[in-house]
Amino acid sequence: MKDISLTRRFAAYVQKDAAYALALRTMYFDMATIAPKKGAAYRSNLLSILSGEAFAHATSKSTIALLQKVADQSDDRFAQDQAKAILKDLEKIRFIPKKQYVEFNKLCNDAEVEWELAREEKDFSRFAPYLHRLIEGTKANVKTRRRTECDYDVLLGDYEPNMTQVEYDRFFAVVKEKLVPFLHRLLTEGVKPDTSFLYKVYPVDKQKQFMEILKEALCVDPKSSYLATSAHPFSSSLSKFDNRITVRYLADNVASAIFSLIHEVGHATYNHQVDQVYEGTVFFDNMSMGMHESQSRMMENMLGRNKSFWVNLYPKLVALFPENLSEVSLDQWVAAINAVEPGFIRTEADELTYPLHILLRYEVERGFFDGSVTVDNVEAVWNQKIHDFLGLNVKDSAEGVLQDIHWSSASFGYFPTYALGSAYSAQWMVAMRKDLNVEQLLEEGRMDLIKQWLMEKIHTYGGKRQADELLKEVTGESFNPMHYVDYLIDKYSALYQLK
Ligand code: ZN
Repeated sequence: MKDISLTRRFAAYVQKDAAYALALRTMYFDMATIAPKKGAAYRSNLLSILSGEAFAHATSKSTIALLQKVADQSDDRFAQDQAKAILKDLEKIRFIPKKQYVEFNKLCNDAEVEWELAREEKDFSRFAPYLHRLIEGTKANVKTRRRTECDYDVLLGDYEPNMTQVEYDRFFAVVKEKLVPFLHRLLTEGVKPDTSFLYKVYPVDKQKQFMEILKEALCVDPKSSYLATSAHPFSSSLSKFDNRITVRYLADNVASAIFSLIHEVGHATYNHQVDQVYEGTVFFDNMSMGMHESQSRMMENMLGRNKSFWVNLYPKLVALFPENLSEVSLDQWVAAINAVEPGFIRTEADELTYPLHILLRYEVERGFFDGSVTVDNVEAVWNQKIHDFLGLNVKDSAEGVLQDIHWSSASFGYFPTYALGSAYSAQWMVAMRKDLNVEQLLEEGRMDLIKQWLMEKIHTYGGKRQADELLKEVTGESFNPMHYVDYLIDKYSALYQLK
């Protein structure tokens, strides 16, 4: 017999959860973009009350009991799948004793404040005791889950299901063996492009005009998207037809806002193209980090930095900035936006050196959890690896071990997904090229057809299907890092005219 009341209760739970999510996301977006600073204290106070309510609703005993019942007994398969996915997500916190949970949250808040001060003062020793407690606290939290895998594998799986150290080791070994020597060769034997014109004066109001042209070239639906400005670019999909994107404008760097926009459009397009039946459910946005990043990085690097994309677009950019670009050819522009320049800061890294920044973080994090890296030697380990991979000598901890916020919020296991996303995207591109003439479509301004391919093959499933399953179905093989390495070596050998 059908349990009507169970189905109804579950539907009501899902809808209330979606209502909280919509309210919180709207408030966060408002806070990051237009909210006046003086209202911050009042707002963040009430925001924390609302997010506390949302958390209590999501994790209460009655919720867990309901989810368990739906997962075990419901005859509605879709409801059952949702309940299982929600329970899996809640596993990260639901077994942690309340006192431990509250203390750990406080530690994260304190650690973030200390991390910021330590970075300002370029003094790692100030943050070190917090990092030590964050690592130990994370281990204690993982222990409550009674899983058989080792701690770091559990954390890696939280961000990317089915990825463990065995798979990441295989991936990063290829990255290290192939890309480190290739980078060295490129920098010593390659023809270095001129990038100076990217850093002339580009008035922000004109950059904003170009954003409108760019959105059109990317076939962004103006009726279901909104572009704003914030300190750090991000995208937030409130629903399928409400995708918010932000960029930051730098008056002395024309490429910054352009490629931030293209990257965030990649993220937003993913959520915009999810099958509507998943809207308001867990599957609307529980795609893995690597999957989401594969869509943004494909849009940014493989499509957005592709010469064909710029054939018709570049003259429009020149028309807005003739004083800076009228003497710069399309080929020079494309070479400049793809230039390789080893640097200390991950977020400013080019496409080729980026995975080496991630490789470094992966090796350090793995060391935190197997005991080979501690807060006493992490700075030395970091600096040595930057030297080994990129040939640079770190001068202070602000440009070294203290540069990222992730560890101050105990996001161990997150970093590797950034590189994994790029690697996935190379594999998607191989499959896409079998169906579509990508360069021709880009030149003809048919991004809509590329997006349609992505929708049908990937986006429509939302978080309902996972990376390994989709990779096999769409590309015919499991994750294969060679596609990524081959792509980078081919691309940069041509751009840098390597023999
Ligand atoms: Zn991203």
